[in-house]
Amino acid sequence: MNKNLIIIGSGVAAYTTAIYAADNNLNPFIIAGGFEWTGGQLITTLDVQNYPGFPEGINGFDLMDKFKTQAVNHCLDALSEDAINKTTESDHIVYNNVIDVYPNIDDKFPYKFVVKTDSLLDSSDTTITDTYYTNCIVVATGATANKLTVPGATTLWNKGISSCATCHGSNPRYRNKHIVVLGGGNVAFEDALYLSKYGSNITIIYRKDMQNVKANKVNQKKVFMNSKISLVWNSNVISMNGNDEIESVTIKNHITNEITTIECGGLFYGIGHSPSSSFLKNSGVELDSEGYIVQDKNVRTKTNVDGIFSAGDVSDKRYRQATVASAMGTEAAIEAGEYLANLNVVTE
Ligand SMILES: Cc1cc2nc3c(=O)[nH]c(=O)nc-3n(C[C@H](O)[C@H](O)[C@H](O)COP(=O)(O)OP(=O)(O)OC[C@H]3O[C@@H](n4cnc5c(N)ncnc54)[C@H](O)[C@@H]3O)c2cc1C
Repeated sequence: MNKNLIIIGSGVAAYTTAIYAADNNLNPFIIAGGFEWTGGQLITTLDVQNYPGFPEGINGFDLMDKFKTQAVNHCLDALSEDAINKTTESDHIVYNNVIDVYPNIDDKFPYKFVVKTDSLLDSSDTTITDTYYTNCIVVATGATANKLTVPGATTLWNKGISSCATCHGSNPRYRNKHIVVLGGGNVAFEDALYLSKYGSNITIIYRKDMQNVKANKVNQKKVFMNSKISLVWNSNVISMNGNDEIESVTIKNHITNEITTIECGGLFYGIGHSPSSSFLKNSGVELDSEGYIVQDKNVRTKTNVDGIFSAGDVSDKRYRQATVASAMGTEAAIEAGEYLANLNVVTE
């Protein structure tokens, strides 16, 4: 199947790219990923308070439903009347995962890239692989926050447990509460500093000791000097406890084997993010040591491969916010349009 522009992902960045690309008559095709994650990270939160345009806040799932509807409508609207009559949503979006992207080495063929997807299982339980050809790709596959799988972690998710302090820290539910932050890197330390503005006190729980803190010296100094923040070393969380919301965490010191329960009114993960970029291993796209797509120094949505662009958290490890992902989607669509306009190939 030949496509003018393929957008991979179905979060804020992907849908924004689709809206702008459709308006620019690029006829984008979205490979949205498996059904259960359509909408991206925001569908895992009930409470988005800082996305402009929603003064009362909005449920993340509802917000992403609006993104999707708007994207699909723009894809359909951008077509001629005739085409609209023959076109359905499914001509513009499929719910498959991309498993591989690589250069199309057949010189005679006018498309530069091959994109392979897995597909829904058929009745015989086999995976069907689809192959797409294109000259232009926007990768908007985001990242996932690392979480624990201890008892209580899933049932109390969104009930005082979050992986985004910048997004949720100012929520009244955390005001003047004791808040636990997990991790020992810059994210955990910066989250603790941020949360100290709202919580009564903050406890950072780290599985290693002080000598193995990964946060930089500046953050360490700020944390150690902040009277609201204390640290617990060499400890792993073994359960998160509570009924309707988190009330405490139970931790085990792996040096002394001592088990302690700490009461808290909130828990934030600061144990890293994993970008969804493994399918790019054969593409030639440069990834950093953590798997984030390396941004071009001048135009942040360009990658080192001409024709492959990126938007959102898959290449943005600094901000990781929906507004930034959306802005990058806009930029990627404009860059993709310019790139395709300058491409001297005839495609259908
Ligand atoms: C709990 C939580 C709460 C948050 N709250 C806020 C908030 O209040 N405000 C805010 O600004 N930000 C918030 N964020 C951050 C925000 O969600 C992200 O910055 C934003 O979602 C990034 O958008 P994205 O499109 O880059 O990636 P994502 O939202 O991660 O979307 C990536 C998409 O790509 C798809 N995908 C992945 N791999 C593949 C593949 N191989 N093939 C096809 N598709 C694939 C996924 O299924 C997903 O749909 C929150 C994050 C979390 C985790």
